[in-house]
Amino acid sequence: MPLDGSFRGYLRTCPVWATACKGVQMRVGFGYDIHRLIQGRKLVLGGVVIPFDKGLTGHSDADVLLHAVCDALLGAAGLGDIGQHFPDTDPAFKNISSMELLARTFQLVRDKGFCVNNLDATILAEAPKLAPHRSDIQANIAGVLELKSTNVNIKATTMEGLGDIGKGEAIAAMCAVTLLTINQ
Ligand code: MG
Repeated sequence: MPLDGSFRGYLRTCPVWATACKGVQMRVGFGYDIHRLIQGRKLVLGGVVIPFDKGLTGHSDADVLLHAVCDALLGAAGLGDIGQHFPDTDPAFKNISSMELLARTFQLVRDKGFCVNNLDATILAEAPKLAPHRSDIQANIAGVLELKSTNVNIKATTMEGLGDIGKGEAIAAMCAVTLLTINQ
């Protein structure tokens, strides 16, 4: 450690760290989305069709988790939000798979010179139980974002009966991501 004992000072004096970290930036992004549950729609979360008596309504397949992931990625890259890139007024996106939206979002992020470091998301749903689908959801997202599944963490929680989500009328999702870039 340097004489002043600081971590910044340590980086200055460690040639391995100084080389490895030169030009690398880390960026953080956060996304949130909520969709209403109705009869007669498939429930799709993280690209997985989940057996349930209701599904989420929306212009696309209404995959609320992937919409939160897209917003987190776009936010971290400084690229605005999902509505700017894939407006729900555009017939081209009617009933589109959100896995396709995620792939297009990832391409935008890559084109700006970023790769994804890790992702952490929480689904807020009173029902159904999502634990049996967690590994499939993680694998789907990791596959698109070129990550190991261990760098994609998916959690689920209920609202303890509180509010619209607690009454089973909606499902929401939140997501945080980190991106890395190397300056040219
Ligand atoms: Mg949405």
